[in-house]
Amino acid sequence: MADDPFENMLAQMDRAEEYADVDHGIFERLKHPERTLKVTLPVELDSGDVEVFEGYRCQFDSARGPFKGGVRFHPTVSQREVEALAGWMTWKTALVDLPYGGAKGGVICEPKDLTQNDLESLTRRYTEGIRRMIGPETDVPAPDMNTNPQTMAWMMDTYSMYEGHSVPQVVTGKPLEIGGTPGRVEATGRGVSIVTERLFEYLDRDLSDATVAIQGFGNVGSNAARLLDESGARIVATSDVSGAAYDPDGLDVGALAAHVSAGGLIEEYVAGDLRASPDDRRAADGGTRWDDPDAIGNDELLTLDVDVLIPAAVEGVITADNVDDLRASAIVEAANGPTTVAADEVLTERDVQVVPDILANAGGVIVSYLEWVQNAQEFSWPLETVNAELERRIGTAFDQTIDQYDENGLPDLRTAAYTLALERTASAHEYRGLFP
Ligand code: GLU
Repeated sequence: MADDPFENMLAQMDRAEEYADVDHGIFERLKHPERTLKVTLPVELDSGDVEVFEGYRCQFDSARGPFKGGVRFHPTVSQREVEALAGWMTWKTALVDLPYGGAKGGVICEPKDLTQNDLESLTRRYTEGIRRMIGPETDVPAPDMNTNPQTMAWMMDTYSMYEGHSVPQVVTGKPLEIGGTPGRVEATGRGVSIVTERLFEYLDRDLSDATVAIQGFGNVGSNAARLLDESGARIVATSDVSGAAYDPDGLDVGALAAHVSAGGLIEEYVAGDLRASPDDRRAADGGTRWDDPDAIGNDELLTLDVDVLIPAAVEGVITADNVDDLRASAIVEAANGPTTVAADEVLTERDVQVVPDILANAGGVIVSYLEWVQNAQEFSWPLETVNAELERRIGTAFDQTIDQYDENGLPDLRTAAYTLALERTASAHEYRGLFP
């Protein structure tokens, strides 16, 4: 199950079905993606070789509005994974009440082995491959794993070239200069930080000095770390593919972020390469907090005795195999699909609160929506307006999920979130009816 995210998504739906007020026929309909396009992408690389890549775009459900969801570049992308991620986008947009359906795209590739030119050619060829199915009113891609504002700029340009005029609204997560919105890059991390604060308020626990371990220090993990650090929490561990850094007194998140954004690995940071000495950092900070972090493994990070564990990397990392060793008292899912259903059942039994991915990482798509709205209005909002609207929308979804959980005695927050998302999507299907 852990290695089939689609089966995992179906199992999550099944767990929620008994509590959701959804007609069984519609429920069955919701288990199938509307369509998936597979494209073959021959690309001439900088090396002179032609490499043939494979990509997908899955449009899962559009009853509530245009399809919406990111595009990822990763070696483990598969049709099933893209379909699961498109399903999760459908439940996510419904839960945070955006007028969208769910979609996802992906290309099987290792971005680390590609030059900037190679990435541009691949992105443009992929955009051409899916261009008949995307559009500002039909399906709006965005960044996901290993894609970023530059990728969106190439997608927007390629699409616009075929249209004969600029169409900024066809993608979100663009650079500011071509219709991006302030606040989009850090939006997912900001949302993770907001829901973590809300969870602590709900549990009547103090977030200041709570210990946090974050698996993954990409865009989402690093922004969540920075914002939680600012709210007083102690980030004791974080990781990337090379390994994890651990300091029970709290990591120097700023120094780590500077190291990683300059292209450094966490392994090198822990080894002391390219890192200011603890004395220099202490002097700069005026405090006594910064010791040398220890090197630990990614598996060990997951089982640390911390207040909050934030998986912010890939799916299927909390499984039946390691769930019994987990000691965190709360989990906030910044990644999509990090917990398998088998692990979920154990966590529910142990009363470990899990803020599910479709709520915890919804900040990204919320701000994507705000970008899309600004593009439609041909108007731009200041950062404060965007951040306030993000906080309001994700806060409302958090409160509704908690009310659903408390008032209906549901087993866990994921089931509460799924019942709301499934009921909203099913209700849209009921009003629209079956065509023809
Ligand atoms: N890729 C992000 C997600 O998984 C954002 C999608 C979007 O902004 O459309 O939610």
